[in-house]
Amino acid sequence: MYIVLLGPPGAGKGTQAQRIAAATGLLHISTGDMFREHVKNNTELGQLANQYMSRGELVPDEVTIKMLLERISRDDAKAGAMFDGFPRNVAQARALDEALAARGARVDRALLISVPDEELVARLSGRWICRNCGRLYHERNDPPAAPGRCDACGGELYQRDDDRPEVVRSRLEKQKPPADLIEHYRSAGVLREINGLQSLEAVTHDLLEAIK
Ligand code: ADP
Ligand code: ADP
Ligand code: ZN
Repeated sequence: MYIVLLGPPGAGKGTQAQRIAAATGLLHISTGDMFREHVKNNTELGQLANQYMSRGELVPDEVTIKMLLERISRDDAKAGAMFDGFPRNVAQARALDEALAARGARVDRALLISVPDEELVARLSGRWICRNCGRLYHERNDPPAAPGRCDACGGELYQRDDDRPEVVRSRLEKQKPPADLIEHYRSAGVLREINGLQSLEAVTHDLLEAIK
């Protein structure tokens, strides 16, 4: 099964993808995490991507699509995956459709998590991430047991550079799922809309229902 998670920055895509991966064993693929890994390792791709990420802009399709197609060509993605942060536009969606069609598969569900803007700002400004395992936290909504330490692995928590208010504004302007992307999946009959303004548990429940 191939699932796409759609939603604005801060909607809860990463958090829910981690929870659903833990509950179902489905592979979680996050293009944001992949880019951050490249930035951390200071690869050529990381240096290029960071120029866009630090401004709250999308990394160009050419490099993003190439990276994603390479990722899904690996064996662990043959049986299915849950995409978090990809596709961000119709060109990316078409590239994914073609790659899946070539192996007799398709996007089975596109789950759109909706959350109003004011709440997104609060979620992004309180987001903390484990430097070691990538687990997501929120300083008020989903805090770790010990401040600054990951419950899962004991790693150090950090805040993303692009979660600073100036960059958040740009991301919220430029990175909401565009109407034609939502329409792409609606017309294919695979779109389901989920109310993201609920507890973590309630959102997980609705998402799991939608992929049953
Ligand atoms: P968010 O908190 O918005 O879910 P992500 O972790 O998904 O953020 O993405 C972080 C940054 O990585 C984005 O601001 C963008 O610069 C880049 N990025 C991630 N996925 C894509 C994509 N599919 N296309 C282009 N750029 C992307
Ligand atoms: P996205 O991947 O869509 O950018 P994240 O999953 O990183 O979003 O979530 C953004 C922040 O909001 C994180 O700090 C997370 O802990 C918090 N969060 C996610 N879902 C909820 C929710 N349902 N209620 C409250 N806070 C949430
Ligand atoms: Zn951790």
